[in-house]
Amino acid sequence: MSRIVYVNGQYLPEAEATVSIFDRGFLMADGVYEVTSVLGGKLIDFAGHSVRLARSLNELDMAAPCSDEELLEIHRELVARNEITDGMIYLQVTRGNPGDRDFAYPDPAVTKPTLVMFTQSKPGMADSPVTKTGIKVISIEDIRWGRRDIKTVQLLYPSMGKMMAKKAGADDAWMVEDGAVTEGTSNNAYIVKNGRIITRQLSTDILHGITRAAVLRFAKEAQMMVEERPFTIEEAQAADEAFFTSASAFVMPVVEIDGASIGAGKPGPVAMRLREIYLEESRKTAI
Ligand code: PMP
Repeated sequence: MSRIVYVNGQYLPEAEATVSIFDRGFLMADGVYEVTSVLGGKLIDFAGHSVRLARSLNELDMAAPCSDEELLEIHRELVARNEITDGMIYLQVTRGNPGDRDFAYPDPAVTKPTLVMFTQSKPGMADSPVTKTGIKVISIEDIRWGRRDIKTVQLLYPSMGKMMAKKAGADDAWMVEDGAVTEGTSNNAYIVKNGRIITRQLSTDILHGITRAAVLRFAKEAQMMVEERPFTIEEAQAADEAFFTSASAFVMPVVEIDGASIGAGKPGPVAMRLREIYLEESRKTAI
């Protein structure tokens, strides 16, 4: 079955879906995105993703392509048309196609935003075997721009980071700035020491993860101690546990950082408990 995707008001087979070569997403990386997980055919934390999308658009003076209700409808339609049980919905909004290349933003009354959405099917994604063994990360310098709180499509450095990790025989990279970990290439980073969950505080230095917000809320509800502050790679290597969160990996244990084993060198109890709570609670409120 060919995948049905959404482009500017139309549902089309993926091979027939096109965007202009003048689209500012293509020429300038002038676009933002969201990735929402689907479990059991339902959307996980759709409200969280639509609030962050609105914030990203607002920070870039970009018009919303449609209402939240319409966005929800398109998400559901794509899930239904592609028979998605477990997987992700990718959404991208760009400043559109002004018909030529120019650094200045086009007039939003004339140039409408481009909205593209597509599904990625991942049957059984919540039971991924890698969760049982955990993943390895390396540290790299964070040389990204200063507005990482805006979820833009300029993902070249995170892609380079992934490739550096692969080359080093690891799975992902944690980025370090001024001696402290900012975040992973596509996730928020955490350590656990003496029962305390430590993760960097929100600022323009990191993406405000939707999974991060939910996991910290569940951790506090379960009376776990949470400390929001920067931590170093050395502190992470000496921690009892490490893990990361993202909408598509949920809570993922990290067992090695720059070749050093973390704790017992296997997924830790706090990470596994948080994963369990996150999945259970998120499934309950999925829509
Ligand atoms: N940080 C970065 C740089 C990311 O790309 C992502 C995933 N998009 C995250 C954190 C995690 O955010 P979320 O939990 O909303 O997926």
